[in-house]
Amino acid sequence: MDFNISTAGHGEIINITEEIRKRIKETNIKDGVATIFVTGSTAAITTIEDEDGLKKDFNELMEQIAPENKNYKHHQAWGDRNGAAHLRSALIGTSLTVPIEQNDLSLGTWQEIVLIDFDERPRERRVIVKITEALKIN
Ligand code: ZN
Repeated sequence: MDFNISTAGHGEIINITEEIRKRIKETNIKDGVATIFVTGSTAAITTIEDEDGLKKDFNELMEQIAPENKNYKHHQAWGDRNGAAHLRSALIGTSLTVPIEQNDLSLGTWQEIVLIDFDERPRERRVIVKITEALKIN
């Protein structure tokens, strides 16, 4: 169920909805949950409308909350420069749970599942997908 994805970093927002949907179809599960998780402490998984203006707005907001060019204490620990990426990842979160109904994701019309890579360099990311069938209780 897992898959790898190459990113450019720097807040690149990649729509992974179809990758997840494809895996749900393969299971034939009608009613359940999908958990989507990215391995790593400088990336995130969330939902957003896949529209270029909004994606720019999102990264502008991240820049206000955790600017890239700031002297984070983290930079003194390992000599890397990705303190902002770690903070953004911690704020947005690295996993998402979406209900499955009628063998499909129950997303809103414009709601897309995205992987966001906040790191300051290109990365190879591993996305883990776990699909669970709901118990039938009468
Ligand atoms: Zn770091």
